[in-house]
Amino acid sequence: MTYKVDNEGYFGEFGGAYVPEILHKCVSDLQNEYLKVIESESFQKEYRALLTDYVGRPSPLYYANRLSQKYGAKIYLKREDLNHTGAHKINNTVGQILIARHMGKTRIIAETGAGQHGVATATVCALMNMECVVYMGATDVKRQHVNVEKMKMLGATVVPVESGNKTLKDATNEAIRDWCCHPENTFYIIGSTVGPHPYPDMVARLQSVISEEIKWQLQEKIGRDYPDYLMACVGGGSNAGGTVYHYMDDERVKIVLAEAGGLGITTGKTAATIALGKVGILHGSKSYVIQDENGQITEPYSISAGLDYPGIGPMHANMAAKKRAQVLVVNDDEAIAAAYELTKLEGIIPALESAHAIGALPKMKFKPDDVVVLTVSGRGDKDIETYLNYYRK
Ligand SMILES: *Cc1c(COP(=O)(O)O)cnc(C)c1O
Repeated sequence: MTYKVDNEGYFGEFGGAYVPEILHKCVSDLQNEYLKVIESESFQKEYRALLTDYVGRPSPLYYANRLSQKYGAKIYLKREDLNHTGAHKINNTVGQILIARHMGKTRIIAETGAGQHGVATATVCALMNMECVVYMGATDVKRQHVNVEKMKMLGATVVPVESGNKTLKDATNEAIRDWCCHPENTFYIIGSTVGPHPYPDMVARLQSVISEEIKWQLQEKIGRDYPDYLMACVGGGSNAGGTVYHYMDDERVKIVLAEAGGLGITTGKTAATIALGKVGILHGSKSYVIQDENGQITEPYSISAGLDYPGIGPMHANMAAKKRAQVLVVNDDEAIAAAYELTKLEGIIPALESAHAIGALPKMKFKPDDVVVLTVSGRGDKDIETYLNYYRK
């Protein structure tokens, strides 16, 4: 039994590539090329060198002593917040831009929610001297304005999107529209394990450096290369996908994912896709989607821009459907409290998204010897205003 992708681009019943005719060639070219490129010696050499010298990997695996005492387990934090540009997103953009260059593309487009993927994409475009256009919902442009300024400084064009509720889903729609207009020269760098095959698998592989490092770091620290629990937040699923990749088929390791409950799953203001979603097609793949009886997408809500998405990657939908992963819902208030707690106990201000993973800890029942690895997907610099304003309300 494997939870990895099959030859047709499916994870169980989820995944596939549902794209308009005009993108068919782009997507099938990428399907034919991505594994060859990723597995080639020249790609690996350049990718690994950039991860080390540019991104700053390996990211530390930090034993969180006070957090461990509080929750009665041995909790290690995988510090993706310490990467260049402040989150795990850069692992993926460094890889995809090398693939884009290999395929002769000269123009890069991306969508972004919190702005982390936009910044990570604009960064590698500056590095590789490529044109960069980033689509971002107008709501997110406002709540993440520092990241917008960074993207501009890096030379990217940021296009605010005014449709829908002006967040990540709407930005993704616009990026796909752009791609349809420029399929010849444009490479779409998707920021999560979503989209048509091969994106979910490609992004998970590029992020799998996270679990590759966890293996040897645990071996060094505790003398065995697997934890009892892996925990991560999930928006589309890329930091979680990277965290679990090398453990997915190892049933000794329990997988716990935290999704964003927003104001609560019964309030209609939520982004809890696994709790509420039904099978549907969104942005090129079959997965769980929050939708009404007529199949219309329900507008999602989360205080965290990076988790404010009505879908989830097909890899994670499959792990949830097959009960390989336990999915917990963490609401806005629980995530905020968790962010303050991590800050006070460990001196680490996490991104709001990552705070959802921390916010799942009180919902767990650990044994004292349990080894838990929790991924801190990003740092909280971009969220300071939200943290401070929350208790001023
Ligand atoms: C984008 C983002 C997320 C959510 O995306 P995933 O693909 O689910 O990882 C989580 N944390 C941070 C810091 C992000 O920037």
